Amino acid sequence: MDLLEYQGKQLFARHGLRVSAGEAVTTVQDAVRVADEVGYPVVVKAQVLIGGRGKAGGVKLAANAREVREHATNILGMDIRGHTVRTLWIEHASDIASEYYASVLLDRSAKRPLVMFSTEGGVDIEEVAERSPEKLIRHHVDPLVGLSRAEAVEIATDGGVDADVVDGVADALQALYEVWLKEDATLAEINPLIVTPAREVRALDAKVSLDGNALYRHPENQSLSDSENEDPIERRAKQEGVQYVKLDGDIGILGNGAGLVMSTLDVVAQAGGSPANFLDAGGGSDAEKIKQAVRLILANDAVRAVLFNIFGGITRCDEVARGLIEAFNQISPQVPFVVRLDGTNDKEGRALLAEANLPNVHTESTMDDAARKVVELAGAA
Ligand code: GDP
Ligand code: MN
Repeated sequence: MDLLEYQGKQLFARHGLRVSAGEAVTTVQDAVRVADEVGYPVVVKAQVLIGGRGKAGGVKLAANAREVREHATNILGMDIRGHTVRTLWIEHASDIASEYYASVLLDRSAKRPLVMFSTEGGVDIEEVAERSPEKLIRHHVDPLVGLSRAEAVEIATDGGVDADVVDGVADALQALYEVWLKEDATLAEINPLIVTPAREVRALDAKVSLDGNALYRHPENQSLSDSENEDPIERRAKQEGVQYVKLDGDIGILGNGAGLVMSTLDVVAQAGGSPANFLDAGGGSDAEKIKQAVRLILANDAVRAVLFNIFGGITRCDEVARGLIEAFNQISPQVPFVVRLDGTNDKEGRALLAEANLPNVHTESTMDDAARKVVELAGAA
């Protein structure tokens, strides 16, 4: 879950990282109001989930209200590489003496958190890594100990920061590590981390990704997800507590258990089809859950046929059949369904379906046959 710059800065501030005073706005009028409040000069910044906003014209300094109005008008609605600007962040502008780079992420191959730092900030860090790798400090952290003061000072010193800001940079690195750890972030990056002429160290930009699976531990972060950019059906699924991922094809897929759903996607692809979604009804699905799942799948207009692939364990196939029958009674789907029931109470489930004699529902007994059938039906639709 990627955060906008201003949301990242809110998390930074919570952990003692210095950021500039500002406010997020969605209108030109509010942009001017906030600029008046924080004091000129200000920076007008496009809030989109993509970097390189400065180069694209999405970050502008303004010396007075007239300039704020001009930049806010230009940037609102601007398209930055496929991202439409709907929100601006207005903050008091900083004077910059130096621009550094700092980030914390998980290095999976080392199985440790990795702190990266460079005095070559403000530019594309991949470029620095390629052009002058010695200028990018990479420091692995013992996760049980955390980033100690001594390590933070060492990183700043090895990075070659001016002696008088070693402490300030070390503070920032320790705070950034705390953001990464305490907020369950997968990435916490500052580019640039600046030093002002008054020798204060401050984050001018923020790039933070949170681990969506850990959100339950952070109710206060739940509202940060950028619901504007989220698929509306995925959003609905999330609210209903259903695992649903939208894909680009035309075959709706429901299975129980992530492993089974993934192999179902594979066999459908192998049979020449293209899945429209990934929907995991989970273990122990009851009729109500199945009904809900059918509604979610059919909410996607691209779906031309649906494959139900259920392997009964804790989930009972007769419950799944009952859910399907109820769903058909309530919403009478216009697209064909292929159903494969196997495992606990599969005979009962198939008998219920046969008895209900639902229009346009085909039962198959193997996964391969079911995949072939659904691809054929989608193609004919
Ligand atoms: P990005 O281009 O998406 O990475 O956006 P940034 O937030 O990093 O801003 C781009 C550039 O604008 C920075 O690298 C700075 O050089 C400049 N910038 C941003 N805020 C300020 C500020 O307060 N004062 C000054 N002088 N420059 C700024
Ligand atoms: Mn930046």
